[in-house]
Amino acid sequence: MTVKLYKRDPYMFEFEATVTATDGDWVALDVSAFYPGGGGQGKDTGTVQGLPVHDLRAKDDILWHLIPGSPLQPGTRVWCSVDWERRYQLMRAHTAEHMLFSALQRQRPEMELVKISLEEGQKQLIVRGDLDWDLLLTVQDEVNQAVRENLSVLRSCLHRDDLDPEEVRVKMERIEGDEISVVEVGQDRVACSGIHVMETGEIEAFLIIRMASAGKDGTAIEFLVGEEATATALALANHALQAAEALGSRVEDLPRSARNAKERSESQRRALKQYARQVLAALPLEEVGDIKVRSGVLPMADRAELSEAAESIRSNGEVAVLLSVDDGISVVLAAPEDSSLDCKRLLQESLTPLGGRGGGKQCFSQGGVSRCDCAREILQSIMDGIRLS
Ligand SMILES: [Zn+2]
Repeated sequence: MTVKLYKRDPYMFEFEATVTATDGDWVALDVSAFYPGGGGQGKDTGTVQGLPVHDLRAKDDILWHLIPGSPLQPGTRVWCSVDWERRYQLMRAHTAEHMLFSALQRQRPEMELVKISLEEGQKQLIVRGDLDWDLLLTVQDEVNQAVRENLSVLRSCLHRDDLDPEEVRVKMERIEGDEISVVEVGQDRVACSGIHVMETGEIEAFLIIRMASAGKDGTAIEFLVGEEATATALALANHALQAAEALGSRVEDLPRSARNAKERSESQRRALKQYARQVLAALPLEEVGDIKVRSGVLPMADRAELSEAAESIRSNGEVAVLLSVDDGISVVLAAPEDSSLDCKRLLQESLTPLGGRGGGKQCFSQGGVSRCDCAREILQSIMDGIRLS
């Protein structure tokens, strides 16, 4: 059996132990402060006698430490060290996660906790229930208020039969054994075997940084704690000020201004597409030598629409030179089947000097450039090519 030091003292990160058994690269110790993960909180990392611990596995009351290439033998005394900065961040995040969900449930009692994931790079919980940014701001304020109040985080042990699901948040189906560890912060009591800080003030600051769909599971809420939360909040404030300046709006009005700008841009886009369709349907006919050509530069036409129009023009025995300007320039050059015009070569010759590319068949070629400022130049070059063919 391994004595779990993290249960007695979550703040212990260095300890001495004796190797009790080995199994390949797995090493068992008589005592260990390494947390093997659980309750959504990631496994600890660190070293045993200076050797990095790659993984942890708890089995039959024994905690196994994966140490690839380990020379350790049973009976050896070892000095062990848990990566404290990482562990402390996860402890703070775990307590904060309890406070966040509790605040969410106070606001929306029907809220359901689906999954918790607390790792060094990403701390998030997935919930099922209606969420919006105003609600998240309210619960973020509540969590930070509880951080300022520096509430005690209490841990107690209850027998399964003494546990009242009305008073303790618990998923009975996930509980193993009769002894249940309960973590209490303010009014919130949760069955949880994870590692927590002793006082909420240790969290220092709490910031929600993302709300995104988690598919059928619900919605993910990602957050930060401590100095990472403070530094990110300050950086986000600066980004918001810059965005407000760019939109000519007050920072408080940013969400509304950004939504309006997006709607405006979408409606202009729709109007331009409509216009492009009309222009495509009425391109004038030009005679270049004995070749009949319909050409045009259109704003924001789909490549598919361009191709469709080009097909229809070439099926009438005419050449189509169609360009669309959007994020870049798309070009379609098409000629009737029996034409001697080499569309592919002509398109490549026009686009290559501008850093673009083209391909396709001799009678139907498509391509483009990533710039937006050379549509007339491309059109001119293709028309010159047709004239010389
Ligand atoms: Zn927990």
